[in-house]
Order: sequence, then C-alpha cells, then structure tokens
Amino acid sequence: MATTEEAQSRLAGIPNLTVSTGTLLSRYTRFGIGGPADLYAETADAEAFIAALGAAHAGGVRVAVIGDGTNLIVSDAGFRGLVLRYRAGRLQTAGTCVMADAGAGLQRLVDFAIDRGLKGLETLAGIPGSVGAAVYGNAGAYGHSISERVARVRVYDGADIRLFTNDECQFQYRESIFKQHKEWIIFSTELALDAADAAVLRRTADDIVKIRNEKFPVTMRCAGSIFKNLLYKDLPASVAAAVPAAVVREGKVPSAYFLEQVGAKGIESGGIRVASYHANLIYNAGGGTAAELCAVIRDLKQRVVDRFGIELEEEVQYVG
Ligand SMILES: Cc1cc2nc3c(=O)[nH]c(=O)nc-3n(C[C@H](O)[C@H](O)[C@H](O)COP(=O)(O)OP(=O)(O)OC[C@H]3O[C@@H](n4cnc5c(N)ncnc54)[C@H](O)[C@@H]3O)c2cc1C
Repeated sequence: MATTEEAQSRLAGIPNLTVSTGTLLSRYTRFGIGGPADLYAETADAEAFIAALGAAHAGGVRVAVIGDGTNLIVSDAGFRGLVLRYRAGRLQTAGTCVMADAGAGLQRLVDFAIDRGLKGLETLAGIPGSVGAAVYGNAGAYGHSISERVARVRVYDGADIRLFTNDECQFQYRESIFKQHKEWIIFSTELALDAADAAVLRRTADDIVKIRNEKFPVTMRCAGSIFKNLLYKDLPASVAAAVPAAVVREGKVPSAYFLEQVGAKGIESGGIRVASYHANLIYNAGGGTAAELCAVIRDLKQRVVDRFGIELEEEVQYVG
C-alpha cells in the first residue's frame, strides 16, 4: 500500500500540477463542510491531470474528482486519497457552436453565449458550478437541461480520450452515463446553439437570476435542491393518484411536495437547517457538520418512505 508521501512525491514530479496535503475540503464546498484530503491537486492541463490519475492508480491511491463543490457533501473525516480538480476554462466559438473546457464556470459559459447572440443556455443562468459537472449531472432549470445543447463530450476513460455523441452520453433527468462511471473525466464539451437576439437572451437570463437569488441567496451554504424530483409516470399508482394535478410540472412531482407533507420545512439539527420556505433546500446555518447533514437527509428520506412508500434520491453527490 502506497503512503501519502510516496504518492505526493510522484505527483510533485508532474509539471503544471499544484499539489497540497491535508487540505481542508470545506474550503472547496459551498456547504462549507468537509474534512481534510490526504492529497489535493489541481491543474488546467489535461496531460497533467491524466498523469496525476496514473500516479494515483499506480500507487493504489483512491481518487475523487470535484468541480466547484456546489453539489457535494464531503464527510467530516475528509477523503483518504487524492482529490483532483480540473481548472481549464477556455471558451471558444465556431459559428453557432461553443466549445467549453470542463473547468469553466457554467455562468461564464452562459454569459459567453448570450454576449455572442447564441441561444440555448440562457435558462441555465444562475446555476452554480462548472461546465464539466453540469454535463455529468445534466444540470438544468426552467424546463431545460444542458443535454439539449450538448453535441459532443471529450472524456478520458482511464485509458483513452474519447468523444461521446449526445446519444452516447445517455442523458436523462439529472443523469448521464458519466454518473455510472465516476472514474471517467470530462475534459470539454461542444454545444450546438442557435443565433438569436442577445438583448432578448440577456433579459431572459436576468429575470431568471433575479428569481433564483431570492430562493438561493448567494451566500447560502447549500447545494440547491438536495433530492431529485420524481417522474410522475414512475410513481406507484396510489401515490400518483393522491398528487394534485397542479403540483405536476413537466411530468415531474417536486420532491418538495412530499417533503412538505412530512413536515420537513424548518427542521434543524445542529448547524443544519431545512429552509422554512422550501422543503427540498437544506443549508448550513453555521458550524454544521456532514454528520448532521446526512442525519437530516436520512430522517427526511425515512419520513417519505413511511408516509408514501417511495424513496427519494439525492441529487447531491457524496465524497468520503
Ligand atoms: C444555490 C444552488 C442552486 C442550484 N441550482 C441548481 C439547478 O437549478 N439545477 C441543477 O441542475 N443544479 C443546481 N444546483 C446544483 C449544482 O449547481 C450542479 O450540480 C452543478 O452542476 C455542480 O457543479 P460543480 O462544479 O460545483 O460540481 P461539484 O459539486 O464539485 O461535483 C458534482 C459532481 O460532478 C462530478 N464532476 C465534476 N467535474 C467533473 C469532470 N470534469 N468530469 C467528471 N465528473 C465531474 C464530481 O465528481 C461530482 O460527482 C444548485 C446548487 C446550488 C448551490
């Protein structure tokens, strides 16, 4: 079994890679929660990233990939292994196509497209995080998901760089093939957009961001929605029959609907709170721990199982 020191010295020999030890992951999560990583490394160079993965695997060191940490729950104990982050953030256009590196901020990409009069990403305005993670989790809002515009994705599968077509990404609601292969790394994506009036796109984005900022204050330590919404067609008939028609939106029943019925709003545990105005929004009010957060999540899931017989699925991803 390799020691952290051995892995660190291998990583230190890789050009363009910044490496640190014992790095507190709470610095890298929007929840502000998470213990230390044995090793933390980041780079904007795909070759260095692949070399770091190789060094970790050769030494038997576990790897976790993170983006901007806006959808992560990192354990209080941190991560025994190497946490890797890809920082390349180039954005380029070719006609109505945009090429985006995975490390670019999604909001930067949205603004880039709008400024060039390119339509298709404006409803994603205000979703925090990186482009790579947006593709990984098929991020979306206001009736649209990034998958609608993804033409190709450049991925490292542990052996080769591969180009995935949209079909090959197997996108579904907050799902993609990449969630089934957490060891694969998304390096970049090409998005197919349409020409449109930049001023109209900007108004759409601004209106959305205004609404979002009320629901998710920019300083709120949270992950947005904790649980995925549920597809109406997948609900047991008895549950579907009890859901008021007005609650169903675009074929989905918000998890918040079920959570409200089980009294989730305003629940507190240590520094962790369920928002009083939104049952699917959990935040760290200060000093909250991953243990408290996970206990609240378990409690809410159990209440929904007990009352409705259905299992909510986390949208948030766990590390450690
Ligand atoms: C206030 C708030 C509001 C939100 N609203 C929405 C919303 O409306 N819609 C929505 O869809 N989401 C929403 N989210 C969730 C979050 O913004 C998205 O999940 C986002 O895509 C996460 O990006 P990230 O870079 O922070 O990823 P992280 O949280 O760092 O990582 C998330 C996952 O992506 C994986 N990953 C990251 N980069 C790569 C890569 N290059 N290759 C492979 N895997 C990778 C990680 O391993 C991890 O499993 C919200 C979050 C917050 C805090």
